[in-house]
Amino acid sequence: MIEALLFDLDDTLYLESDFVASGYRAVARFIGARRGMGHEEILYTMMRTFTAHGRRAVLPRVIDRYLDASVTVADLVEIYRNHGPRIRLLPGYGPLLRRLGRRHRLGILTDGLPEVQERKVTALGLGKIVDDVVYTWKQGPERQKPDPAGFLALLERFGTDPARALYVGDNPDKDCAGAHRAGMKFVQVAGRQVRPGPTREGGAAEFVIENLHQLPGVLALLEGAAGERTRAARRSGPRRTRDAATQRTSAERRLMEAVV
Ligand SMILES: [Mg+2]
Repeated sequence: MIEALLFDLDDTLYLESDFVASGYRAVARFIGARRGMGHEEILYTMMRTFTAHGRRAVLPRVIDRYLDASVTVADLVEIYRNHGPRIRLLPGYGPLLRRLGRRHRLGILTDGLPEVQERKVTALGLGKIVDDVVYTWKQGPERQKPDPAGFLALLERFGTDPARALYVGDNPDKDCAGAHRAGMKFVQVAGRQVRPGPTREGGAAEFVIENLHQLPGVLALLEGAAGERTRAARRSGPRRTRDAATQRTSAERRLMEAVV
């Protein structure tokens, strides 16, 4: 029985690109107000610069083009980080999480500046849906994933054994490796941008799904396998346990083939 479902935040429950666009819109509005012009052209410049030259080029570029030296990159970074983000959970994830929350404890484990991540959690309405959130950087950036400390802290708050929990995320080297270090199985959400693959440590996700709507299938399979194992143990006593474990493994493999 899986008691707890723990989730990564960025690019697992919502698209981080939406947060970036939301932050750039806040910066563009600030510059527009200062210059007495609409923010759309400024935002367009920012998004084009982002696409062509990457994140680091964006703020220096708009300062160069629209502002004077009285405004620094640090000033704009402050506006970006402190803005109230306009972001949404991916389609259908709110009702899905509420349904999952009837049978499981739900938690979020996320890296990044805690005050920024807290604003995202609030904007997404997750405070009312999940039971608890761990912000790894509150214990210092060195405690970020794949350090197991945050995973274990969340499990301890829930009183859940790692074997009775799943971690769901997108990043193999942070999410998968961290879950495994904490003794949990990992479900990778691998969409268009993220492909499934081994971690640098050589581990791999136990399950790969395209989106969260496939998670109930993973849970049904794990619970079905656990039921099979119990029935097999009852039928034949403890010596059959190994057979049941083999059945579970092959059932898990079938699911992976079905959803990858
Ligand atoms: Mg992520």
